[in-house]
Amino acid sequence: MLRYTSGAVLHGSNIREALMAASAILVAEGYPPITVVSGDREYDEQVAIFLARYVLVGQVNGRRVYDFRWWEGRQYARISPAGTVAAPSRTAPHVAKIASDLGYPYNDRNTAAHRRLQQIAPGLGLDWTGRFFGEDWHWETTRGVGRIDGGGTTASTSEEEELMGVLDDIRDMFNATNQAIEERTQAQHDVTRAFLLDQTQRQHDVTRGYLADLTQAQHDVTRGYLVDTITAAVAKTSPGVDPGVVRDAVESAVRDIEVEANVDIDAIAKRVNDEADERARQRLDQPAAS
Ligand SMILES: [Zn+2]
Repeated sequence: MLRYTSGAVLHGSNIREALMAASAILVAEGYPPITVVSGDREYDEQVAIFLARYVLVGQVNGRRVYDFRWWEGRQYARISPAGTVAAPSRTAPHVAKIASDLGYPYNDRNTAAHRRLQQIAPGLGLDWTGRFFGEDWHWETTRGVGRIDGGGTTASTSEEEELMGVLDDIRDMFNATNQAIEERTQAQHDVTRAFLLDQTQRQHDVTRGYLADLTQAQHDVTRGYLVDTITAAVAKTSPGVDPGVVRDAVESAVRDIEVEANVDIDAIAKRVNDEADERARQRLDQPAAS
């Protein structure tokens, strides 16, 4: 799909067909379609524009002169502040109907789309000749003018084609938006996952410490209770025995039982935590709902 801005025309078949083919390839690859900003220029129009700004040097009559041009063997002076124009030429590329100035992004060598067009251009008989004179937007066919025919213009674009063009634009925007959302969602997911894992780890560290403390406290209480109970029972059944001696003996016996039972409170807490941790990771590693 080739677009034209108002007033732009391409009557030469080679430049037009090359740009149509290029645009189709670019659009299929996800780049924007090509817009013709300025195509053919008529020689008579070039002459009219030139003579509106330049007069023969002998006819300046004291007016301010901005610059000079040679045209058909005679020197002209610009007396208009409206800017410089090239001297008319029947062989100038736009007059010869072999050139087109393109709109964004094919008017900027720093865009990916422009670089891609540079890559596919040789195979289509296109050449970015503007690189030789600082015009990123100026492209030419290398195959001559071809047929001169009605050509493509804004005016010859049917309403249906206009509508299809608008729909294409909307679809391009939609696709670009979708892609941006997908990238952002993935990035957000990665950030959230890292945050959750980090939080879960911190939470588990806290929980493990708490579990270990709690178990230790419970254990201490139980041991104290056991020692007290056994000491009291011995005092009751053997009134003559020193309670301090009985308590020392009971505490020593309980410590022996602990060593034999190998009570490792921290190891128990770690195992509980590791299992919870693994379950959390498995949940987080499941694909995000889209
Ligand atoms: Zn040009």
